[in-house]
Amino acid sequence: MTTFAELGLTKKVHQAIDEMGFEEPSPIQAQCIPVVLSGRDVIGQAQTGTGKTAAFGIPLVEAASNVRHVQSLILTPTRELAIQVAGELRKIARYKRVKTLPIYGGQSIGHQIKALQQGVNIVIGTPGRILDHIRRGTLKLDKLQTVVLDESDEMLDMGFIDDIEDILKVTPTERQTLLFSATMPDEVKKLSKRYMKDPVSVTVNRGDVTVPLIEQVYYKVLERTKQDSLCRIIDSEEISLGIIFCRTKRGVDELTEALISRGYLADGLHGDLSQAQRDRVMKKFRNGEIEMLIATDVAARGIDVGNVSHVVNYDIPQDPESYVHRIGRTGRAGKRGLAITLVTPREFKLFKSIEKETKAKIIAREVPSLADVAE
Ligand code: ADP
Ligand code: MG
Repeated sequence: MTTFAELGLTKKVHQAIDEMGFEEPSPIQAQCIPVVLSGRDVIGQAQTGTGKTAAFGIPLVEAASNVRHVQSLILTPTRELAIQVAGELRKIARYKRVKTLPIYGGQSIGHQIKALQQGVNIVIGTPGRILDHIRRGTLKLDKLQTVVLDESDEMLDMGFIDDIEDILKVTPTERQTLLFSATMPDEVKKLSKRYMKDPVSVTVNRGDVTVPLIEQVYYKVLERTKQDSLCRIIDSEEISLGIIFCRTKRGVDELTEALISRGYLADGLHGDLSQAQRDRVMKKFRNGEIEMLIATDVAARGIDVGNVSHVVNYDIPQDPESYVHRIGRTGRAGKRGLAITLVTPREFKLFKSIEKETKAKIIAREVPSLADVAE
């Protein structure tokens, strides 16, 4: 087994990682860090929750020097993820004079421009807002060394391909390109072929796309009594911190309201909320003020909240990739988690195809009766 010491990190970075509680590198980190440090392009594929952020974050911080221009740019699919990745990088860079800055839509652009003017080494942002700054001339990438496409499958899924290509076009051709993804659909492969030079592929746990520490179960429910069934399941499972997925924003609002009125500590997260509202909800979820976060797929992409004990697919995910991403919100960093899927008769065929394609073992459970939960 590799240790961080064997990866040849400088003392400053090593100490910061130590203080973050990382005792040894995860497999994707052990394999990626040396290759990224060597300057090669890297395609890193590993399940969610396996530490891909630090797999690129550690070498980027190592390589960063105390200059006043943007050396690395990290593209992420959502604002929440940009903030989260920036937070992790800031911790890794704790003992170095490296400036990191998250840039995302919904935050005042003037504030971002000022921060950029003061000199930043590593910029983390969503494609739309990054492109906005490039067009305004407030983000200059002519001295860029490394671009990271984080959660690439999600970014393409969200329709960011044109933005990503426009951004890559204004970066130096001799740049290093790193691509990270939990899954490798064709569009991601195509992107890597077009924009990467002789990349090294690092794949961890090929063929087993779901995380082994996540136990997976399903309940057959009826559309008409779905909310009721959910509440019984919540009570019998004793969910301490859970993310509940709905298909639509409206579904999120309705279920949030229903759960709150039944006395649960719940709140909703979706794309129609303002950035301030989203930040507030995430903060409440992180510090345990709410126990249940009800969200759409898009809103919950890549969110890393430790201790999420349960993920509930209230509405069934539309495809296997989405199933894998959703349940990957639990079972993070070696912790256990339970993924629950509610299946109505109409959804059963889709459910079975998801189970088959992900090769997951999803075990049937019975919705508890009222008597079971009413002690
Ligand atoms: P991914 O991008 O693969 O989904 P993340 O980078 O978000 O995963 O990491 C998941 C969690 O694991 C984070 O909370 C992170 O701080 C933690 N983590 C990452 N690397 C290590 C490590 N080497 N040791 C312990 N925890 C780690
Ligand atoms: Mg990630």
